[in-house]
Amino acid sequence: MTIPKLYELYKKHPLISTDTRKITAGCIFFALKGDNFNANEFANQAIQQGASYAIIDDKQYKVDDHYILVEDVLQTLQDLAHYHRSQLNIPFIGITGSNGKTTSKELLNSVLSQKFKTYATLGNLNNHIGVPLTILSIDPSIELAIIEMGANHQGEIASLSAIANPNYGIITNVGRAHLEGFGGEEGVKKGKKELFDHLKKNEGIAFINRDSANLVEMGSELKNIVFYGKNNDNYVSGRTLPGEEVTLEWKDSTSNDWQKVQSNLVGDYNFENILAAICIGHYFELTEKEIKTGIESYIPTNNRSQVKHTEKNVLICDYYNANPSSMQAAIGNFAKTEGSDKMLILADMFELGVYSKEEHRKIIDQLLVNGFKNVYLIGKDFYAVKKNESFNYFETTNEALDAIKSHPPINQLILVKGSRGMKLETLIDYL
Ligand code: ATP
Ligand code: MG
Repeated sequence: MTIPKLYELYKKHPLISTDTRKITAGCIFFALKGDNFNANEFANQAIQQGASYAIIDDKQYKVDDHYILVEDVLQTLQDLAHYHRSQLNIPFIGITGSNGKTTSKELLNSVLSQKFKTYATLGNLNNHIGVPLTILSIDPSIELAIIEMGANHQGEIASLSAIANPNYGIITNVGRAHLEGFGGEEGVKKGKKELFDHLKKNEGIAFINRDSANLVEMGSELKNIVFYGKNNDNYVSGRTLPGEEVTLEWKDSTSNDWQKVQSNLVGDYNFENILAAICIGHYFELTEKEIKTGIESYIPTNNRSQVKHTEKNVLICDYYNANPSSMQAAIGNFAKTEGSDKMLILADMFELGVYSKEEHRKIIDQLLVNGFKNVYLIGKDFYAVKKNESFNYFETTNEALDAIKSHPPINQLILVKGSRGMKLETLIDYL
């Protein structure tokens, strides 16, 4: 079946599912293959549960006309998403970067939805399946789309950009994340730049943080750039104000009136995420009041840059994920945070390959330089580079849990951060 023909079906059946546990009546089921599963086997089940059609790529599972046989289900999903995107004549803002994509996306959506009917990536659906699913969730009433694009190797942002065809884009930052897949920091830069390469081709507009020499360099071939940053000559400039949560004021280059905004996010690195959302909001002609409401009404709920007050301690929960640059930023910020009794519970950073030892050791050195005393380091990678510093090392999260249960910390300000797979959430109930 050709894509335009399939598109006719999709218009009548705009709900898409790739998971038999989430079938809604009348949906189209895409039978994707993974490393450990072949959803062609579940196509029949999807139809039994109410799916109108099942897209399959293994002919032995075709029963009747409700089963549409294609060459490659994933490719068909992506092609259909691309086709749908081409029918939508609205701004698409692509967001990528090493850190802060979801936070920036949520902030930006909170801002832009003050004026437009927006659709933004749900949660973290930012890969070769999530991006097409996101696009296919955009109905014709939507006026503006915000698409998070993630990558752990080169070429990925290029192909996600080809599917989503963003005409606006932002790279939040480039840092030391997914070093294994990208092949070091230069590889990360090249991989993220693919979004700018796409904007160059379709004459789109890039929003660039001028305080990042890397991003400025990566955007050097672009014609249409809107800059934001700390200096006053940017389209939008911002400066920080004191406050437990990130507070700042901003103005545009033609004005001398500073606008104060107080966020609900901790961590000074969120300054750039917030300023990006402000800059884009201003570019899309939101009023200062709409921008302020957008930023101030966003409350993080996802263990990213979130403060929790328990009966015993105050926790800075940042254990949604970790990589060397976000870990370093979080520790740097924690060092500047006021409080006399501070504790850090940090766990391994994944996907670093040959860089792993060096990067874990650098974190330990940063902790030593900052003079932290009360430190729990969890995981095999930290354990492997342990010297005889006085920190507490645990090979597993369970071992750390036992230690916390027998000696519960009290009246501490605690930073909790590590890769998602380290399951630091299991410690939270005891802190
Ligand atoms: P993922 O790759 O999992 O999609 P992401 O890029 O969407 O991650 P977020 O989920 O927004 O990133 O944030 C994850 C963590 O990254 C935060 O909890 C924080 O520690 C860190 N972080 C967020 N913004 C920045 C930033 N601008 N610079 C450095 N670190 C940041
Ligand atoms: Mg994300």
